[in-house]
Amino acid sequence: MRAIMRGLTDAEFERLYGTEDQCLAAWVKVRQAAGMSCPRCGNPKSYVYDRRVGCTRCDMRWSITSGSVMADTKLPLTIWFRAMHLMSSTKQCISAVELGRRLGVSYPTAWYLHKRLRHAMTQESDRCQLGAPAEGGWTPIVEADDVYLGGERNEGSGTAGKTRVIAAAERWPNGRMGAVVMRVVNSFSNQAAAAFRDSHIVPGAVVHTDGTKAFGVFGEAGRTHVATVTGGKRPERERGGPFFNVNTLISNLSTALKATYKVFSPKHLPNYLGAFCWTTNHRRNMPGMIGALCIAAASASRLTRRTVYATGSIG
Ligand SMILES: [Zn+2]
Repeated sequence: MRAIMRGLTDAEFERLYGTEDQCLAAWVKVRQAAGMSCPRCGNPKSYVYDRRVGCTRCDMRWSITSGSVMADTKLPLTIWFRAMHLMSSTKQCISAVELGRRLGVSYPTAWYLHKRLRHAMTQESDRCQLGAPAEGGWTPIVEADDVYLGGERNEGSGTAGKTRVIAAAERWPNGRMGAVVMRVVNSFSNQAAAAFRDSHIVPGAVVHTDGTKAFGVFGEAGRTHVATVTGGKRPERERGGPFFNVNTLISNLSTALKATYKVFSPKHLPNYLGAFCWTTNHRRNMPGMIGALCIAAASASRLTRRTVYATGSIG
């Protein structure tokens, strides 16, 4: 039995982030660590007073949230931090409705908060690369698979209406799962697989797949591809098998999707996958989730309501 990893309890959260001052201090620390140069003169030295930052050289002043996913927020930081706590402490990816109920804010407010934090998680997940050696010299193998999600209920009845996803997970020599990536693709074409490879698999990595044709490109551009043809059947599921980790990832995703949505909707999926992979990639440090999500929020681009509406993504 593996140890149960848990995040902060509500009491621990209250003790660490219960007041506006505590949240502001935590947020300032993250922003200062990333560097807060003056947007006008580039001076790296600045001072903070309340939620404002000032340049020590020129008279430029700006908000402590500007240039991050929290830009232009009117909400207290305690609401943001509580949202981060709720969105990172469950595997099942809390919905916007549930978030609003737990925070005691209106649905539109919860919806926009939810969008912005998922956007921050997704941007970080989009930068994730698999297959790099660790400092000790061990190198993980990358397991990749093609997945069809949603569409018609009866499985095995073809791929009409389904959303295509490339899923990949690292397997360390001891069998344990490392980092994971999942991306929606238009088709399982060579072009889509090559784009996935270039964004998410480091040169020199070894990639194992079940022989899906397009995945041949995983063996190009300095990577090595090992195909195990499974004849259309799911490859073996025992721990340590060549696809155990990616199969576990896909089955965890499917459980989480069922728990979050009554009806599957493909338009939710890219950000859902981003958040799901983000949570999976940080699961080994559950108590540090809020700090990690602050870092993601600080480095994510601004997301305006107009952008969210323009992409037609609701929920
Ligand atoms: Zn300045």
